[in-house]
Amino acid sequence: MPDSLQTQPEVGVPDDTVFPPGVCYIDGRYTTMDQAKIPVLDWGFLRSDATYDVVHVWQGRFFRLDAHVERFLASVAGLRMTLPVERAELERILHSLVARAGFQDAYVEMVCTRGHSPSFSRDPRQARNRFFAFAIPFGWIASEEQRARGLDVHIAEIPRISPESVDPTVKNYHWLDLVMGLYQAYDAGRENVLLTDGGGLVTEGPGFNLFAVKDGRATTPARGVLHGITRRTALELCAELGVPAEAGPLSVEALKQADEVFLTSTAGGPMPITRLDGEPVGDGKPGPVTAKVTALYWDKHRDPAWTTAVDYSLKG
Ligand SMILES: *Cc1c(COP(=O)(O)O)cnc(C)c1O
Repeated sequence: MPDSLQTQPEVGVPDDTVFPPGVCYIDGRYTTMDQAKIPVLDWGFLRSDATYDVVHVWQGRFFRLDAHVERFLASVAGLRMTLPVERAELERILHSLVARAGFQDAYVEMVCTRGHSPSFSRDPRQARNRFFAFAIPFGWIASEEQRARGLDVHIAEIPRISPESVDPTVKNYHWLDLVMGLYQAYDAGRENVLLTDGGGLVTEGPGFNLFAVKDGRATTPARGVLHGITRRTALELCAELGVPAEAGPLSVEALKQADEVFLTSTAGGPMPITRLDGEPVGDGKPGPVTAKVTALYWDKHRDPAWTTAVDYSLKG
């Protein structure tokens, strides 16, 4: 390496100490999070040309691993990528990540990026797709205090990227609408954000789906959203609880008139929203349907039908 490059001051080099504990599998090797790096030419980074999924581990068990892996494989196929590992190998890697990290509770992300073409061509068919995955400590969308009282959420003027442009059922990193929406929310003194479809219907927020409960019936937006595994879970739990629930159009007006609103995400399950644009939802307290769905959701984390024990023998 020329001296002129070696002696450059380390401007803009992130501090490695800010990385969480955890383990990453990348390019066929396991490494700590601070050592996990992707080449800057990867289109996953340069163009958000990537798909991913997140499954969580709770008390040593994956929650709905099959559903997450199936969605991930469908997303990879939807973007016309080829995952460089088979499904069984993918699952073995996910187990091994958690085992190596020694986590009982974890947030496990799997990613497939377009990679880059060896000839630097602009033709995506020539790109070699890259797979990596990592396990880091479990994280929540809302803090314990927010979960107890419910979130104060802003409804952004920014519409969610149209489903005609980018298929929202392929989990993706096109988040600039969501991130700029978060800034709008913070500027307005709120804690999180919901985006509309630009035509009066609500869609979703950064990493979560939405449910409104009115007169005992639950509705979650049908269009322009990721089909969240927690959203599907909440629909199934509502059925088990005898609460009529369906995916359908949900207007901003109907949302504001709801008795209860809650969000759903792998990063914390169902969580109450008790204020919208500063106004209380219903009586301004987390509601009974939200409480029942949340309790049953966490109960299911011990149910072998919905969980898979982590194979802690895969420590490498
Ligand atoms: C991941 C995500 C969700 C929630 O999906 P889950 O499978 O329940 O975690 C909702 N919306 C977007 C945009 C997401 O990325």
